[in-house]
Amino acid sequence: MAQSGLQIYKLLPKTNCGECNYPTCLAFAMKLAAMQAELADCPYVSDEAKAQLEDAAAPPIRLVTIGGNGTSVSAGNETVLFRHEKTFYHAPGFFVRVRDTQPESDLIQTATQVEEYSVDYVGIDLSFSGMAVQSDGGDAETFRQCVASVRSVNRGALILISDDSEVLRAGLSAAPGAKPLLAAATSENWESMAALAKEHGLPLVVRGASLDDLAQLTQRIQDAGVEDLVLDPAAYGFADSLVAMTGIRRLALKHRQRDLGFPLITYPHDGVENDEDEAALAAQSIAKYAGFIVLDQFSPALAYPLLVLRQNIFTDPQKPIQVQPGLYEINDPSPDSPLMVTTNFSITYFSVANEIDGSGIPGWLLVADAEGMSVLTAWAAGKFDASTIAKGIQTTNVADKISHKRLIIPGQVAVLSGDLEEELPGWEILVGPREAVDLTRYLKIAA
Ligand code: SF4
Repeated sequence: MAQSGLQIYKLLPKTNCGECNYPTCLAFAMKLAAMQAELADCPYVSDEAKAQLEDAAAPPIRLVTIGGNGTSVSAGNETVLFRHEKTFYHAPGFFVRVRDTQPESDLIQTATQVEEYSVDYVGIDLSFSGMAVQSDGGDAETFRQCVASVRSVNRGALILISDDSEVLRAGLSAAPGAKPLLAAATSENWESMAALAKEHGLPLVVRGASLDDLAQLTQRIQDAGVEDLVLDPAAYGFADSLVAMTGIRRLALKHRQRDLGFPLITYPHDGVENDEDEAALAAQSIAKYAGFIVLDQFSPALAYPLLVLRQNIFTDPQKPIQVQPGLYEINDPSPDSPLMVTTNFSITYFSVANEIDGSGIPGWLLVADAEGMSVLTAWAAGKFDASTIAKGIQTTNVADKISHKRLIIPGQVAVLSGDLEEELPGWEILVGPREAVDLTRYLKIAA
């Protein structure tokens, strides 16, 4: 049962040392009770107190990891309902489902496409997590062969789907070391499924038609010795899925209902009528609140927007995506090539760098450490000023690499020209365009 902030406080050292990043033990206790802090942040809690605080300290949603042989996907450990309250930590893994009734050539083609798909998004490598293989025919040997075919071309994480534990056992034999997620235990088969999961130390999906069914099943399966569970609320379509997923998350977080404190799996295609709705429901599931999303189709045109949406939702808004400050060489610049400066906010950097790259004109790009802010925001916050830029010039030794002393600054901070001429005596400060998209034209005229 959850403990109040005062109950937790009584078990803390009460020295108010502040090492947990809260000014007092009471403040820390209140945050712990609200599940907005972790007990491990206090290094002075006694073992005895730890044991008593176990409930408050345990994550309200269990962290479940699948995958092996160098790949892994984790879901769970979330502590808030809304990203603006804190942040979301474990982005859902995307899987593509194939079935053992499909021709082998089809499933190999799909598994290969998924394996090979990777896209660079502002310096972040985005890809799918792996494959889900489903037994539709119920024949163990057919399923084993299907899993073997998929594994021959796709080494990502794996979900094996059947209501028959012996069929799953056959699939497991074709995926040594893969540590797949087994799906799914129901009220009819949970004992054999739990036995298989326990025997192999694997996480198990629990499917129930209602939240009560799910809660009862997870209790039974945990009593049988399987702790790593994933919930399938068997709710299909936009509204039912939203209600079920939100209800489970709310009960786990706000009411500390332990038997529903597990990550969720969803199959967006089940219960919708076309591929477009599957894509839209997958997008909904990213936000609320899937840990594993199993699609029935794959194409780059579908994958890219879903992965970018996921990236945006699972990026901490308080920590902008940054690139490393420094001097970047684009298009093999020579000492005569122009020198430009921008900030280390990832999207700003890639906007500018891509324009220079696309222009075909060689250039030097100095990326100043502006704490990951865009040009105007950093300037307004005093993080992108003449001294920051001058420091970048000095630390990168760019003056030793170029044969001129001309620096092109973003047009949005033209106001920095005067200060820069004082900070960098002998340098000529040129004001570039306001927008990155105008850089090519500017460079061609200036060249
Ligand atoms: Fe109290 Fe521990 Fe935080 Fe120090 S680190 S203020 S002892 S809760």
